[in-house]
Amino acid sequence: MNAAPANDVVTDLLVAGGGVAGVAAALAAARRGCRVTLVEREEVLGGTATLGMLGTICGLYPNGGPEPGELLNGGICAEIVAALSGRSAGSVPCKVGKVFVLPYDPRHLQELLTELCSREPTLTLGTGTLLTGAECTGGRVGKVTVRHRGEELTLHPRAVVDATGDGELAALAGAEFDLSPPGERQLAGLTVLLDHVGADDALGIRVPFVVARGIDAGILPELYRYTTFTRGMNPGEGALKVSLPAATGSTPDEVLSLATKLVGFLSRELAALATATIRFAPTRIFDREGRRVAGDYRLTADDILAGRKFSDGVVRGAWPMELWGPLRGASYRYPPDNDYYEIPLRCLKARDFTNLFTAGRCISVSHEALGSTRVIGCCIPLGEQAGLAAARLCSEA
Ligand SMILES: Cc1cc2nc3c(=O)[nH]c(=O)nc-3n(C[C@H](O)[C@H](O)[C@H](O)COP(=O)(O)OP(=O)(O)OC[C@H]3O[C@@H](n4cnc5c(N)ncnc54)[C@H](O)[C@@H]3O)c2cc1C
Repeated sequence: MNAAPANDVVTDLLVAGGGVAGVAAALAAARRGCRVTLVEREEVLGGTATLGMLGTICGLYPNGGPEPGELLNGGICAEIVAALSGRSAGSVPCKVGKVFVLPYDPRHLQELLTELCSREPTLTLGTGTLLTGAECTGGRVGKVTVRHRGEELTLHPRAVVDATGDGELAALAGAEFDLSPPGERQLAGLTVLLDHVGADDALGIRVPFVVARGIDAGILPELYRYTTFTRGMNPGEGALKVSLPAATGSTPDEVLSLATKLVGFLSRELAALATATIRFAPTRIFDREGRRVAGDYRLTADDILAGRKFSDGVVRGAWPMELWGPLRGASYRYPPDNDYYEIPLRCLKARDFTNLFTAGRCISVSHEALGSTRVIGCCIPLGEQAGLAAARLCSEA
């Protein structure tokens, strides 16, 4: 990060969090000429979508038809989809049940986000930078502090976008938020990428079955109950996704041990996984649900089920409310087929604040509605719209 004297960073807009939502917010504002500082605590961009090693972008297309149809949202979302498709022949929409998803390579997404940011002359990228404080006076976030390589830096931005996924900036500034109690919060997740997966088209069914059998026989602990398998984009690749409470693995060693125990068990039980090896296991477990910052409007399950439209609707969504509950695993409730709901701009502005916007996972929605709005295909346009709204405010100030 470039610091001015006395460790003050000069910027119009601070975006906290460099997941897909934060990057889209920063790009949108920088492209409007705004001086933007994007801070991300990790050394790389993309957040859950890259470090979590997911492999499919959900929420890009309407549901129900035989073909994926037009993208629900254009702009930066369309740009990213086109670029990913250009980088990998396997990045074409495919149908899973009633919905369409876009397979992608997380490494390609990570490279792409970095390239897009580096092309913007008014965007300062601060990876390896932790947001540590935010002060609010008279409904305005006036001062933000961050730590970069052991050095404390201070920013006085005109506007801020909280894209930390967990509403961290908003909470530090004293904004109101909703947070489901741990027992009701959606399960977090751990994705393990495999190589040398043998031919077996039924692995998607066999893996959950043998895991359940192993748990019932007392060989595997209960926490593996919600394990799924999907094939990767290239031959021999696959991914195990385990949905489990966020507190399960708190150190990288614990998380790796969770992954190796599962792969060891599956390689003994299933011929197609007998020689499978772990290509990548994350060092932490990723949250599906965290703080949802109270906005001027709170999107609800009814809005989604009705395919509701709003006069200030800025983002279209169609992904079902996919809820990974601690007691019964995944449940799905769908918006109307071949239709979409809208997310109003009011969900992206923190209530009682004049210059605090939210993007991605931490916008103002109910617990159920988050099951739909949290997917990558929704978080990218949410970021873009928060960035545009913040840039408008900066240009007025
Ligand atoms: C197990 C699991 C499986 C999923 N599967 C899919 C799927 O298949 N398809 C799909 O479309 N979606 C999926 N999702 C949802 C989706 O990946 C995320 O909801 C989405 O990527 C969130 O993007 P975001 O930018 O809002 O937040 P995040 O990706 O959480 O990014 C927030 C960023 O802020 C940074 N940050 C946080 N605090 C600070 C701080 N104090 N200082 C600096 N930086 C900070 C974090 O490091 C992170 O990079 C899944 C999620 C999980 C957990």
